[in-house]
Amino acid sequence: MSEKTVLITGASRGIGAATARLLASQNYNVCLNYHRQIHQAEQLSQTLRTAGCKTLLLQADISQEKQVTEMFCRIDNAFGPLTHLVNNAGILKPQMKLRDMTAERINELLSVNVTGYFLCCREAITRMSTAHGGNGGAIVNVSSVAARTGSPGEYIDYAASKGAIDTLTTGLATEVAREGIRVNGVRPGFIYTDMHTDGGEPKRIERLKPVIPMQRGGQPEEVAEAIAWLLSDKASYTTGSFIDLAGGK
Ligand code: NAP
Repeated sequence: MSEKTVLITGASRGIGAATARLLASQNYNVCLNYHRQIHQAEQLSQTLRTAGCKTLLLQADISQEKQVTEMFCRIDNAFGPLTHLVNNAGILKPQMKLRDMTAERINELLSVNVTGYFLCCREAITRMSTAHGGNGGAIVNVSSVAARTGSPGEYIDYAASKGAIDTLTTGLATEVAREGIRVNGVRPGFIYTDMHTDGGEPKRIERLKPVIPMQRGGQPEEVAEAIAWLLSDKASYTTGSFIDLAGGK
């Protein structure tokens, strides 16, 4: 079997870290991108290495083009061309209504949640495309149930960034379908990670439980399972598709 090399952006914690643990157990070489949490990223990398996985730790801000291109070059040098990408890194700003949002806040959020995903997709497809000498590949973009709900009163800017990711997924899936590359999305919601603290409400999931049809939040590992399936050959006829993981919401 040929070697599988995956890059997971935002792998230091939360959904990214859970995905890294699962893919490491499925014989991928795992490239772990992080932004600020070096200790958590190093600890995860060490754990995966101890279990026999080949890892590469990559500090980069995905909103910065030069840092993204350098990150992909480091992967080329370590493992050869990338075969799988999980575009996962994302940020959330404190809850507020649109009338109070500044251009600085909106632009910062979009530069990570949208520009960062575009840049990583660009670098990945350049390496994967069978039209350019690559062997094909698979991409999963981590969107959000917020793309459908719009997150009124909480963070419409974040929701809109995820709407852009759904559109990116749909368009790119078609654009590269003949080049051996599949592009799919997952839309999680109410997952127990640090992200809700960044939004200013660590107990947000507890407040919203009554309106979630399954009456509970989700675990990062439950999202990782869907990502791993979409990346795998078991999903070989699936592209431009989305799996919602939000307890029925
Ligand atoms: P999290 O626990 O807050 O983790 C966010 C990750 O993104 C961290 O690894 C962080 O790196 C990384 N990151 C942030 N800014 C970055 C940048 N500029 N460059 C590179 N990495 C950066 O979040 P999570 O809940 O696991 O979220 C993962 C994805 O799922 C996000 O796209 C999020 O929007 C989406 N999502 C989450 C939920 C939920 O309920 N949790 C629901 C829907 C969608 P450092 O730790 O190194 O700073």
